[in-house]
Amino acid sequence: MTGTAAAAAAAATTTTLSMKLLVDTKSRCVLFAEAGKDVVDFLFSLLALPIGTTVKLLGEESMAGSTGELYGSVERLDDTYVQPGAAKDALLRPVIAPSPAAASNVALLGLPPPTPPAPAKRFYRCSSGSYGSCRDYVGDTYATKCPKCNSSMTTECQLAPPPAGSVTAKTDTVVAAQGFVRGVVTYTVMDSLAVSPMSAISSITLLNTFAVTDLSVLQEKTVQIGYKEGLEILKASLQSKTVLTDVFLGNKSRSHA
Ligand SMILES: [Zn+2]
Repeated sequence: MTGTAAAAAAAATTTTLSMKLLVDTKSRCVLFAEAGKDVVDFLFSLLALPIGTTVKLLGEESMAGSTGELYGSVERLDDTYVQPGAAKDALLRPVIAPSPAAASNVALLGLPPPTPPAPAKRFYRCSSGSYGSCRDYVGDTYATKCPKCNSSMTTECQLAPPPAGSVTAKTDTVVAAQGFVRGVVTYTVMDSLAVSPMSAISSITLLNTFAVTDLSVLQEKTVQIGYKEGLEILKASLQSKTVLTDVFLGNKSRSHA
């Protein structure tokens, strides 16, 4: 683990999620898991991670494809080859867009919080209003000189609310607190990370598809997902179709260890 990754781990909040696995003890694999909103929010949030962030989290060497090489190339590229004003950090430490989905991975993976949206702009008009046409001007800097009468434009104007029904940007903070999926539902998470809302009937159907005849080999296992497991899930999701088995039953069937 690199210094920065260790620091991120230390800085990571103590967020821990839990989920219930149904394990086939005979074949040592996870059949499926039962998870709440928090776990599903985290899994879906992996899609909101920029690739640069993923490489940084997992390390260049542990990337299955070639993105690690790309990352390393940018890292090693001498600044003299980079356009003035183009920051390498934009690729190596990309900004994560604030969104309900991203909030979950930020919390669990110890990533820096997304940059908050810029504060609303303020507008000022002429304070003296000597001429009628003073009203034609508005400035976005306090005490701009009025082009008409040269007075200071210091009277703040209010931005009129858009007409009802028009499309505006959602209030990020409110939505972020709510995550992505609805909370009252329990979800089924397959070993391959296929996620769907759970029902009693679907569980029985699932058991049938696995052709489980001997129910005594099945075992429920509740597992915790913290920073370490979160990273392992991210890593496994990029290279495996048996993520839950890999991460929680420690089946290192692949040679990437
Ligand atoms: Zn004026």
